[in-house]
Amino acid sequence: MSVPRPNPLLSDRDVDFQLYEVLDTEALCTLPAFQDHSRDTFALLLDSTRRFAREVLAPTYRPMDAAPPVFENGRVRVHPAMRSLYAGMVDLGLLTATRPAEVGGQQLPLTVHAVASAYLMAANLSAYGYLGLTLGAAHLLEVFGTPFLREHFMARLYRGEWTGTMALTEPQAGSSLADVKTRATPAPDGSFRLQGSKIFISGGDQDFTDNVVHLTLARIDGAEGGTRGVSLFAVPARRPEGDTRVPNDVQVAGVIHKIGWRGLPSLVLNFGESNDCHGWLVGQPGRGLACMFQMMNEARIMVGLNGVATAAVAYQESLAYARERPQGRPAGARDTARAQSPIIEHADVRRMLLRQKAIVEGGLALLLTTSTQADLANHAPDEATRKRAHLLLDLLTPIAKTFPAERGFESNALALQIHGGYGYSSEYLPEAWLRDQKLNSIHEGTTGIQGLDLLGRKAVAGGGAALHVLDEEVRATTARARAAGVEPAWSDALEDALQQAASLTLELGARGMAGEVDAMLRHSADFLELFSVVAVAWRWLAQAAAAKDGLSRAALTGAGGSDRAFYEGKLAATQYWFAVEVPRVPLLAHLCRTGEDSYARMHADWF
Ligand SMILES: Cc1cc2nc3c(=O)[nH]c(=O)nc-3n(C[C@H](O)[C@H](O)[C@H](O)COP(=O)(O)OP(=O)(O)OC[C@H]3O[C@@H](n4cnc5c(N)ncnc54)[C@H](O)[C@@H]3O)c2cc1C
Repeated sequence: MSVPRPNPLLSDRDVDFQLYEVLDTEALCTLPAFQDHSRDTFALLLDSTRRFAREVLAPTYRPMDAAPPVFENGRVRVHPAMRSLYAGMVDLGLLTATRPAEVGGQQLPLTVHAVASAYLMAANLSAYGYLGLTLGAAHLLEVFGTPFLREHFMARLYRGEWTGTMALTEPQAGSSLADVKTRATPAPDGSFRLQGSKIFISGGDQDFTDNVVHLTLARIDGAEGGTRGVSLFAVPARRPEGDTRVPNDVQVAGVIHKIGWRGLPSLVLNFGESNDCHGWLVGQPGRGLACMFQMMNEARIMVGLNGVATAAVAYQESLAYARERPQGRPAGARDTARAQSPIIEHADVRRMLLRQKAIVEGGLALLLTTSTQADLANHAPDEATRKRAHLLLDLLTPIAKTFPAERGFESNALALQIHGGYGYSSEYLPEAWLRDQKLNSIHEGTTGIQGLDLLGRKAVAGGGAALHVLDEEVRATTARARAAGVEPAWSDALEDALQQAASLTLELGARGMAGEVDAMLRHSADFLELFSVVAVAWRWLAQAAAAKDGLSRAALTGAGGSDRAFYEGKLAATQYWFAVEVPRVPLLAHLCRTGEDSYARMHADWF
């Protein structure tokens, strides 16, 4: 049995660099919403979360993966560690960190919360899952709930007394939530009686709090078909009646045996088998999906962070392994009397590590930029800034959700590869993180659905208004990079790639307007890939500019070698991205533009 080495989960040095050298996160404190905060209060949350993640959460990851929840006598028993882990995460204040004081929160920027969450996710993704789901459910009730729901449900969720779920998916309604069939019948007391079946409901039952609230999509009797007939309900597993709890006719019908996220149960739930399942409407009738979508940006940022965190922890592990594992000698050195070299000395291993670094740190940079746009969109005092940030946030969200999931999976596979045969065994953790990572391209809208969202909606909305904002932001970054003395060819290449992306968007949008929707959307996955390459190139160039500035400072102050090494590593990773990824943009654009149609022509019965 291998002994897991201490793993930093994410690099603290990189996190600080991204927050304070690439972004100016402290400047968020000039917004009225965050005026009580400073770099010191950010550090309080980050320090305590890092410590908890490393010392308490990470050691529980392997045992929870090895002993998934058990379904017995109609109830789900989860790993016994979860009770204290959940209490510990609640104590850190993460359920309400971004919420206002009225609901017990500290009103911290999402950017800071995102970083703190990433440490917990990297330590134990399943354990964090309960918290993330509860936070999402409570936030929905905070924004759309009646005073009754806020007092009786939201407050308990935020205090950590209950947990929450998102109960959307049904067997026939996964990607297509317009096909939700669960029914809600009005009851005389103003609540509803629900009947239907949901599948894959994560955290749908557990035994460490005394209740679970399901934020459930259902169709009120007589509602129209399609998305506009779908409403949102709060459905507790046990309904509060005074100080007691009455079973609310929500039955666990089965547990999905998952390949990853094995500490968090995903369940089949039946609502109203005895016609006694009470649900309370959240928001307006028929606006259920609209309510969910209002929260979707944050949920998708969370999934993107899951992807970054899962790739990051594996990157840290493979980096440590490559530094320690002796195998072979430098190319050309045949003398077996000479000691073997650590595998990091082999160029091909460094190729894999550099690709991991480019994906992990490029992904983190993308997620933090997206979170900052969410902070500005929600809290900037002037409307013009809020509107601008909203446009950019909407455009970046499908990319921030998908890039870490898809490229993160590749990065996780490289971590396994670097371990050679040992990576292919369950004694080592890379295989477990690879299994975890796969979910991120599936839940919260599959990669296919994100591609359609980006090309069919976000990029073309308002005549490409979001692209104008992105263009301004990219030009500000290239100006900063040029001034810092970053290789000018990278700035030229980024401006050119964005230009190609923008003109492609206009062309494809025109095709859609002309009624050729199929031709427009055929290569939406390639379109998403193209934008991912460009967006991450933008964030790498911003890191290169900050690194150049850092090197100049180090030269002036004579700062130590480790600082210089850190910045040189940033420049090497930027070079890698511009040499290996950005040149793919013309090919991807060509596929989208020409509508290369092999798979469109391919008949289902030709396979
Ligand atoms: C472990 C796990 C946990 C989950 N947790 C939750 C949860 O807590 N709550 C919840 O409500 N749901 C949850 N889900 C459900 C998840 O959101 C769905 O699995 C997901 O939305 C995909 O739906 P589906 O499985 O029905 O696949 P389908 O929708 O059948 O998709 C199958 C394939 O077809 C593609 N496809 C489908 N429609 C289109 C289209 N129009 N155009 C192009 N391609 C398309 C998809 O991209 C995919 O590759 C979870 C799922 C898993 C596996």
